[in-house]
Amino acid sequence: MNIISSMAAVALAGAITISAAAVDAAESQPIYEDLGQCRVTCYCPECNDGEGHESSSGTYLEYGHAACSWLPIGTVIDIEGDEFVVVDTCGTDAIDLFIDDDSGVCRCNLNEYKRVTIKREGMKR
Ligand SMILES: [Zn+2]
Repeated sequence: MNIISSMAAVALAGAITISAAAVDAAESQPIYEDLGQCRVTCYCPECNDGEGHESSSGTYLEYGHAACSWLPIGTVIDIEGDEFVVVDTCGTDAIDLFIDDDSGVCRCNLNEYKRVTIKREGMKR
């Protein structure tokens, strides 16, 4: 390989890398879709149907995680300034926020309508 064709190969490799990165960036482009007022509830290890910190996606549940039956897993949402990631499914129409409380006592009493915005799309179901 002479110097010119090896430079072309480097340039080509570079172009492929850049275009792959561009595709990644396009797929994870932040979006700001206003969902309006959504019903928001919460759940904890105690009332997670005997699953504790287990979620349907396999992600270990912690504060900042949410369950939802109508948003894809991985969706990042903003609820009045706080960010949550959907990692679990939910049996109701609400967005169910995980409360990291290992006291063994369920104190879940949230049931309010809050303004929700999608910040980043999750995987398609
Ligand atoms: Zn609970």
